[in-house]
Amino acid sequence: MERRAFLKSALAVGIGALAVPFKPRLAQAGESDETFEITKTDDEWRSLLTPEQYTVLRKEGTEPPFKNAYYNNKAHGVYLCAGCDLPLFSSEAKYDSHTGWPSFWKPINDSAVRTKTDWKLLYPRTEVHCRRCGGHLGHLFDDGPPPTRLRYCINSAALKFVQGQ
Ligand code: FE
Repeated sequence: MERRAFLKSALAVGIGALAVPFKPRLAQAGESDETFEITKTDDEWRSLLTPEQYTVLRKEGTEPPFKNAYYNNKAHGVYLCAGCDLPLFSSEAKYDSHTGWPSFWKPINDSAVRTKTDWKLLYPRTEVHCRRCGGHLGHLFDDGPPPTRLRYCINSAALKFVQGQ
């Protein structure tokens, strides 16, 4: 094999090895087909949501860690989508990940959230969004606690907490 061709394929294998790790397993959480029950124009979302909610839900923004409403919330209840009120997560699956964002080891049911691959950074991440309105919620990682070993790292601004349900 020519040296250049060898280097090229070695590089391709290297990049492939970097890119593969958690994607296949995490993508099973419900890869999105990008059609949503609730759709609104950008102007409608802007008028319905606070600037923070809009930035996170509609522009895939990320709020600062430890400076958000729910990262340290230990109350019992349900977290709804701030865009469409769909129940997304229960306090029963919330845990302290020490990341400064609300973290859950599973959604409230199998159809609450969907995922897609996010290539915004140099490596792929699994993006999590609301099944009903498509609002961006956060990201999914595979370093969570048992039994799932998943960590749904969610922006507080994407959630509305309802106590005692
Ligand atoms: Fe929603």
